[in-house]
Amino acid sequence: MTKLLNGNQLSREIRKEISKKIDQDIRKKKKRLPHLGIILSGNNSSSLTYVNSKIQECKNIGIQYSLVHLPEYSSEQDILKEIQKMNNNSLIDGLIVQLPLQKHINEENIILSINPKKDVDGFHPENFGKMSLNMNAFFPATALGILTLLERNQIKISGKHTVVVGRSRIVGRPISILMSRRQNPGNSTVTLTHSHTTNIEHYTKQADIIITAVGVPGFLKGKMIKKGAVIVDVGITRIQNNENKSFLIKGDVDFHSVYGKASYLTPVPGGVGPMTRIMLIKNTLIAALNRLNNS
Ligand code: NAP
Repeated sequence: MTKLLNGNQLSREIRKEISKKIDQDIRKKKKRLPHLGIILSGNNSSSLTYVNSKIQECKNIGIQYSLVHLPEYSSEQDILKEIQKMNNNSLIDGLIVQLPLQKHINEENIILSINPKKDVDGFHPENFGKMSLNMNAFFPATALGILTLLERNQIKISGKHTVVVGRSRIVGRPISILMSRRQNPGNSTVTLTHSHTTNIEHYTKQADIIITAVGVPGFLKGKMIKKGAVIVDVGITRIQNNENKSFLIKGDVDFHSVYGKASYLTPVPGGVGPMTRIMLIKNTLIAALNRLNNS
């Protein structure tokens, strides 16, 4: 029997917890509400969807947001200028630049220019380094969402063997660091695999927990996992339906062969995605509380 890990339901519970904290620590004290700044460059349809869902999450919780939408082919300088404005704007607590950016823009320059105190995506090297050293920092939202999903479903991580597929700096690498940190949740033995790993099945078959962030629909098949493994599917691939122009969302997991063999499985959609969005809001609340504590 496979249990589906319902990210929609858990994110609703966490939304309530965040709302309560905002009421108690901010509204009742008549302080300014958390404020998320979002910079979007261009009209990539996936990025537009992600930004809209982040804005919707701000609205659901009742925190403030500002969106700067720059036109297609904006220069790196244009984006850096908007980041500086938000860095210097004391009314903005957290700031994100929606990735990926167009090829002519150096993403590293963009990430480096964000004030680490406002870096609620946790991509700045200062936050990433602190996370790696188990220090207080903003953790990347997807990794934090996965950790929370496992923890709140009482899935044991400590002492287990986790295989992460994919080593991107937004998902694979941070989750491998958090799963292996000397703290609970953590203390897992982690194998980090990628496109140069030979015979990936050799590793996935030994895993108690598999976290797959590849972006290839149906990548992880039932024959690649051991019975009872916990499967976290991070993949989101949008497939266009040519008939009615709608999009179908596909994960990395071949649902039909994995369902029934795994003990737990995150559905796509409705698993990791909603957890990512709510963790971004949680990070924004932390940024706002840091501001209040330092004022
Ligand atoms: P990415 O930067 O493209 O990284 C993909 C990783 O997968 C790379 O490390 C790559 O290896 C590895 N890979 C590619 N093909 C492979 C193969 N055949 N075998 C083993 N490893 C392979 O992607 P990302 O940004 O991490 O995103 C991954 C997926 O997660 C995408 O579908 C994305 O849309 C989704 N995502 C979902 C959420 C969410 O909230 N649910 C958040 C972020 C991303 P190399 O390093 O060797 O190239």
